[in-house]
Amino acid sequence: MDNSSIKETKTLSIIIPCFNEEVVIEETHRRLHDVLGTLSDLEIELIYIDDGSEDGTLGVLKNLQARDSCIRIVSFSRNFGHQIAISAGIENASGDAVVLIDADLQDPPELIPIFVDLWREGVEVAYGQREAREGEGAFKLWTAKTFYRIINRISNVSIPLDTGDFRLMDRKVVNTLLSMPERYRFVRGMVSWVGFRQECVRYKRAARFAGSTKYPLRKMVRFAADGILSFSMEPLRMAVWMGFTAAGLAFAGIFYALVIRLMTNSWVQGW
Ligand code: UDP
Ligand code: MG
Repeated sequence: MDNSSIKETKTLSIIIPCFNEEVVIEETHRRLHDVLGTLSDLEIELIYIDDGSEDGTLGVLKNLQARDSCIRIVSFSRNFGHQIAISAGIENASGDAVVLIDADLQDPPELIPIFVDLWREGVEVAYGQREAREGEGAFKLWTAKTFYRIINRISNVSIPLDTGDFRLMDRKVVNTLLSMPERYRFVRGMVSWVGFRQECVRYKRAARFAGSTKYPLRKMVRFAADGILSFSMEPLRMAVWMGFTAAGLAFAGIFYALVIRLMTNSWVQGW
């Protein structure tokens, strides 16, 4: 049989983590639907992850699913966090390529066809790199900028600057990620670590379409700590040096006490 005559349709999975996003999802879905309609030779699978939302997110998703058979929903029993949500999406995706995109339209869906073109040329990870960010406060901009620079300084893995999780990954990369047992998953770092052919696409990051950030300071700090603890030996080295310093000071204290006792016939007061 001539196999070349069988046209194999490739599947593209889109993963959209949602935490309390009832006000944006319909617009996001409309934009995704329009953009993905231009990729007519691909089969599309949209996986929405409801990360334990407390608003009407799940209801909105179910309504969308009733109208659009491409939609799958993964619903969490509580809020587990963005990185776990996208990891669950990756696990559930069946696509030959998988795209991660935020629900709030800060990552423009219009970039997906550009990622797909690169993928067709053989690029295995196409990721968005922000050249400007609209609608973010000075504190968020400064902390994000500083975080990416620090982690690159102290980590052996080079993680591209100003890059979120907005990206397309080939199935080979996805399978490699699935084989990694990491419990605290700093996904963008893991994708950098696995290698493969990676290329960036620069873009202007828009402001959130509606609603407010779901990354309060507490979650941002935990996220940054997971990244640094997973991708750098520096915290461990610092702990070792602090241990040596404390032990050194203690030995100096012992030496001092002995010298005083033996040379002066008095002793450290209070012993
Ligand atoms: N998100 C999530 N779980 C969380 C926090 C955020 O699934 O615990 C989702 C959120 O719905 C959005 C994406 O992760 O689709 C990025 O979050 P957000 O836009 O609030 O972060 P920011 O862009 O402000 O850093
Ligand atoms: Mg956002």
